[in-house]
Amino acid sequence: MPQHRIHNFNAGPAALPLPVLEEIQASFLNFNQSGMSITEVSHRSKWFDDVINDAVARTKRLLKLDDRYHVLFLQGGASLQFAMIPMNLLKDGESADYVNTGTWATKAIDEARILGKQHRVAASSKDKDFSYIPKNIAFDPKAVYVHITSNNTIKGTQWAAYPETGGVPLVADMSSDFLSRPFDASKFGLIYAGAQKNIGPAGVCLVIIREDMLQKTPDNLPTMLKYTTHASKNSMYNTPPCFGVYTIQLVLKWLEETIGGLDKMAAINQQKASLLYRTIDASQFYRGTAQADSRSLMNVTFRLPSEDLEKKFIEEATKNDFGGLKGHRSVGGCRASIYNATGLKSVEALVDFMKAFEQKNG
Ligand SMILES: *Cc1c(COP(=O)(O)O)cnc(C)c1O
Repeated sequence: MPQHRIHNFNAGPAALPLPVLEEIQASFLNFNQSGMSITEVSHRSKWFDDVINDAVARTKRLLKLDDRYHVLFLQGGASLQFAMIPMNLLKDGESADYVNTGTWATKAIDEARILGKQHRVAASSKDKDFSYIPKNIAFDPKAVYVHITSNNTIKGTQWAAYPETGGVPLVADMSSDFLSRPFDASKFGLIYAGAQKNIGPAGVCLVIIREDMLQKTPDNLPTMLKYTTHASKNSMYNTPPCFGVYTIQLVLKWLEETIGGLDKMAAINQQKASLLYRTIDASQFYRGTAQADSRSLMNVTFRLPSEDLEKKFIEEATKNDFGGLKGHRSVGGCRASIYNATGLKSVEALVDFMKAFEQKNG
């Protein structure tokens, strides 16, 4: 029997590819002839070993990572990485540069400050309510890393091209655009992404760390907070988030085998975002909130002429099977999150709905 599925524009946890959910459902009671669910097998078993090794291998293939990179599956969300990064990478007397492009970047900076780590905000877009990505930033050549947020989920901005750092390794929070497009990973010392936006369910944070960054981990940290602990045990020092890792593995397989890799995924994402932004730009009714050259291909943020109309828009959208269009509670307005798993057909349906709503209310 066909299930009722809505057009899912949630910001996170967010849509997952339907074939992935169907595969989970089909193998849920008997994973790989084990006679057990994936949620029942030991993380020390061959069954789980194959899952996590395949997830690592696919991540490396998709991003063309060389042997210096370790792929880890950690808990504590992207938010724990805000603290683990300065704890592991910054020694006394060393400093890091941060670019403040919104709520999540601010939280990352806050953790460096709480830990008493030397850091500098090299650039910020706070002056214009985080509506743009700063350009031509002068970074400290002695910085241990430059921290950026590749996509700003709440304000709907995204780095179109990553900044020139003069050789200082980039550290990036890619929670909301990880694997949405190809990029040159060799400039990055560390990449992290809470899975629940673009690659899986909540409960896992994928971390990619380069060997030279890994070697910075000091001895005097709690075991669970050291990258070296997790890297030396293939993310199985303790029980990993098994179901989350398994779901990520299936999403990566879908990306490689069904979509056909990151170039193809990026082209689809570009098409979806262009359709929405064209609709917004052609209208006197909808108004985009991010500056045009900084617009996110993942989170399309927009306003209507009044808060009352925004409320009505979201109510009617919900009745018509469009979910998740309310802006983040801190900023209001509307937001369509169009991650990898939200298909072009859903975006086309949303655009039709937006045009009809404007006709009636504009
Ligand atoms: C959602 C989000 C976070 C927070 O992730 P958690 O896994 O909930 O800690 C951090 N950064 C960005 C860019 C996000 O979109």
